[in-house]
Amino acid sequence: MKRISLAECLASADDTKGMFVKEGALEEIPALLGRYFAGDSGEIPPLFLAADENTWRAAGEELERILRASALAVNGSYIFPAAGLHGDYALVEKLAALMKERRGNGNLVPVAIGAGTINDLVKCAAADCGLPYCCLPTAASVDGYTAPGAALLRNGFKQTVPCAAPRLVAADTRVLANAPAFLSSSGYGDLAGKLIAGADWIIADRLYALDPSVPGLMPVNDRAWTMVQVPLREELAAASGAAAGDKDAGGVLFEALGITGFALQYMKDSRAVSGCEHMWAHVWEMENLRCRGETVTHGHKVVMGSLAAAAFFECLFSGDLPEEQKVPSAAEREAQVEAAFSDDPLAAEAAKKTALAKLLDGEKRRSFAAAIRSVWKELDGALKRQLPSYGELRDMFVKARCPVLPQETGLSKKRIIASARKAQMIRVRYSVLDLAFDLGVFDAILSRIEESDVYLA
Ligand SMILES: [Zn+2]
Repeated sequence: MKRISLAECLASADDTKGMFVKEGALEEIPALLGRYFAGDSGEIPPLFLAADENTWRAAGEELERILRASALAVNGSYIFPAAGLHGDYALVEKLAALMKERRGNGNLVPVAIGAGTINDLVKCAAADCGLPYCCLPTAASVDGYTAPGAALLRNGFKQTVPCAAPRLVAADTRVLANAPAFLSSSGYGDLAGKLIAGADWIIADRLYALDPSVPGLMPVNDRAWTMVQVPLREELAAASGAAAGDKDAGGVLFEALGITGFALQYMKDSRAVSGCEHMWAHVWEMENLRCRGETVTHGHKVVMGSLAAAAFFECLFSGDLPEEQKVPSAAEREAQVEAAFSDDPLAAEAAKKTALAKLLDGEKRRSFAAAIRSVWKELDGALKRQLPSYGELRDMFVKARCPVLPQETGLSKKRIIASARKAQMIRVRYSVLDLAFDLGVFDAILSRIEESDVYLA
């Protein structure tokens, strides 16, 4: 299938007008700012630089030198302490107040120098001020750079706050190559998760053709699919050296992650980039998963979610389907949600609504399950073309220096399996977990994973 070029991706992105991934992009920043931020008079508004202590050292200091030698003015900067920095909405408010003060009655171009957290803080603060901003990434660590919306902690809840993606992204591959290895391997994990997201979308597409009234199904959107899925295997192969500091691999990884963000800007829905592997990750984000005292990165959670999902697919589609078990009634389902989220009553309330919204009642569930069985072979074929085997996926992660053992991310096999139950309760988006649930084999598949010494070990 034909690929969609970066230029074509940009043409259908709402917010982002330019993305440059190359060695020496830092030196070109003054010219790029001129191209994307100059007003009618040709004048570039003064800049406001935001970074943390680490990312300032990684790229901010050099940028400051480059700017000093140019005609561009800097009107303020803010460097966050690096220790314990996270996407807290209070920091957005602080940053936005500073920008407003600096801006006065004039204009300002915020420049985010950093990885996911700094970018999210600046993205949201810039949007609060009604200003388009420039992103200067210091690590190919997440797909969120070019996505609309920022992942922030607000009123005690992690949520995606809607805000525009950057107008300009300029990634210097020399800077990306110097990023800590765990950040690059996190980006690799976030990208590899798209294999699973694609498999879930194939399920949602085929089942939509059977019965569009079932919640969470969605036909494949050709353009978004082509952007994300068509180049994916090649990108993953070319990006595996990113964590080892290979400049070209880091560049491939950043551009691939960026393009998945453009698919999001185009579709205004995360279906193209997120499936059940992200639902596992969200469960661990809600639980604030930590390992050796540090919060586990989003991308490493996606790695473990992808491995769990790959095991689930393999157990569901290899051999005969397990015998159908009783699917719970609404009252039984409520009790299951309460038991799964017994430590978090607020999350339990939200999950109850979601789980009940997608619970099919008796007759409908039975006829839907029969319809699924009638297309099983075709579905199996399409999924086997989309997905690497569990072993292949694990090898890809090892090569890219990602964690592959549960304990490397503070998890255990038992906890990953328990998290599958929660993952199936927190989103209506149809995934392989729902497929197994509607077939009445969800618990039996989890038992197959648990009993095997191949998976998650
Ligand atoms: Zn992600």
